[in-house]
Amino acid sequence: MTDAPPRDETANDTPGVMTATTRDARGATTGDLPGDTSAAARDTPGGFADTNAETAGVAALAAFLARAAAIVGAEHVSGPDAVDDYLDVYALGDPHAHQPGGAVRPAEVDQVQEVVRAANEFGVALWPVGRGKNLGYGGSAPRQSGTVVLDLGRMNRVLEVDDETASAIVEPGVSFFDLYEELRSRDSRLWASVPDLGWGSVVGNALERGYGYTAHGDHQQFICGLEVVLPTGELIRTGMGAMPNSEAWPLYRGGFGPGFEGLFLQSNLGIVTKMGIWLMPRPERFAACRVAIDRESSLPALVDAMRELGLEGMIDGVVNAANAVGVAAGSSSRERWYDGDGVVPDEIVDTIASDLGIGRWNVKFAVYGSDAMLDLKLARIEGVLAGIPGSRLTAHRYDGAASAEEVEPFDHFAAGIPGMLLAGGVRWRADRPTGAHIGLCPVSPLTGRHVVEAGRVMRTHIEAAGFDYIGGWLGTGRHAVNVLMIFFDAADAEESARVKRAFGELVPLLADAGYGEYRAHLEFMDAVASRFDFNDSSLLHFTRTLKRAVDPRGILAPGKQGVWPL
Ligand SMILES: Cc1cc2nc3c(=O)[nH]c(=O)nc-3n(C[C@H](O)[C@H](O)[C@H](O)COP(=O)(O)OP(=O)(O)OC[C@H]3O[C@@H](n4cnc5c(N)ncnc54)[C@H](O)[C@@H]3O)c2cc1C
Repeated sequence: MTDAPPRDETANDTPGVMTATTRDARGATTGDLPGDTSAAARDTPGGFADTNAETAGVAALAAFLARAAAIVGAEHVSGPDAVDDYLDVYALGDPHAHQPGGAVRPAEVDQVQEVVRAANEFGVALWPVGRGKNLGYGGSAPRQSGTVVLDLGRMNRVLEVDDETASAIVEPGVSFFDLYEELRSRDSRLWASVPDLGWGSVVGNALERGYGYTAHGDHQQFICGLEVVLPTGELIRTGMGAMPNSEAWPLYRGGFGPGFEGLFLQSNLGIVTKMGIWLMPRPERFAACRVAIDRESSLPALVDAMRELGLEGMIDGVVNAANAVGVAAGSSSRERWYDGDGVVPDEIVDTIASDLGIGRWNVKFAVYGSDAMLDLKLARIEGVLAGIPGSRLTAHRYDGAASAEEVEPFDHFAAGIPGMLLAGGVRWRADRPTGAHIGLCPVSPLTGRHVVEAGRVMRTHIEAAGFDYIGGWLGTGRHAVNVLMIFFDAADAEESARVKRAFGELVPLLADAGYGEYRAHLEFMDAVASRFDFNDSSLLHFTRTLKRAVDPRGILAPGKQGVWPL
């Protein structure tokens, strides 16, 4: 493969036009973003500031909210003074830094379309959320203050479940709890994969490329068919859904012609109002497995083993790893172990591991099949792990038809049983309601060398900033999402500022090492996006070209993932 041809480097540096750059040894270019996305550039006449709610003016916002009330009912509209429920509860400092201009809660697709048309008419920006539980990344709050939250929580119907083809169609307000209950009430043979917390949106989580922990844990891979309200209010269906009488909308991704689903993931190009999803047929048996290693030095071998076992098909789905402090943070506060200054000392980490019966590193994953298949898979897993000094495997086997009560709560992940077990797991540094966290998630190859290196960069920096290294990684065959959880007290201004600084410094440090985030908090979307800058940021330039074409008034989620309207 060759690099894309160099872009015109003679273009001037006005917004929207490529800027002169330098080229690195691999042919990639670096330099200013095409079109300066700084606040100053956005505020230029004729630019983005003309169309967003912040500058649309109080009168325009009021007129829009009045129109929205006529569309969805006054009780389903919140004005600018009634948006506390939509603030970022884990804000890094001022929770009003991402202040919604209001909230509108439609219940039907045609209401979404009408609200979008009104937003265009009044020049008011909208920020769609499904359940709005995007905690650690901004919650329900919009990137740009003044943007009105389009809360799709009332659109919470499971529209179809097909046991035969193992698929469903859901609306964006359907939570993981809702889908689970619906499947149980239909006595369905199907399972959905769930993330740690069951209150999130099946659609919102998948659109954010979130993870759960069954064989379908890489949620974006199981999306099949979207219905989308475009920023002009027009309604489209992707794939086979474009044929009104197709029976295969949630079954075949292809459709006829280009595929568009990816355009609407982590995107501000459309509002998803229906999503097809592939579900997992309940297996005959399953095993919830855990591996603990007692020494840090065995981590590279563990990572490599997980990759090989995933590639061989012995492990089904996502491997979820956490260090000892990470496991402790899921169920206890720091004071239980250590109340001194600085980071938790090494000998205390040993105490944590021995008291909780865990390792320095701990992974959990699942395997599925008949008992005979589990025997074979577990024997192979055991054989591979035997080569890793200080590793211990435990496997709890269950019947596929076991009820939630029959499965240990800590094994629910393997059967797609939603819960809130980790909801209190953000109180490591502040054992009170202001306990908060932010996640930094650089992607690397799933190799021992890279996972250790990404962890080293994050650990060195975060410990220097005075925070414990609470690390983990999610592995799916080839890549690892390396997770750094930074816990802090959102009510402590100094601590919040320190987190913000450390996080802001880590983004470029990790990018320099070749690791880009898979997802980012509102505060860091621009910083992360700015490092996806191959060939004069040509991808971002392309996205903004699309943005301009489909959202000429710039009303949908300005700034989402660093994509600002021009
Ligand atoms: C303790 C803890 C554990 C967590 N564990 C996990 C985990 O295991 N896996 C994981 O993935 N995450 C995890 N998270 C992060 C987060 O809570 C989940 O990802 C959660 O599912 C996201 O919130 P939501 O589903 O309500 O999405 P929403 O807040 O509804 O949506 C998220 C974003 O997607 C976009 N969006 C949503 N709906 C639409 C739409 N209809 N059209 C267009 N764009 C849309 C918007 O930009 C929105 O801001 C965890 C968080 C905490 C605090």
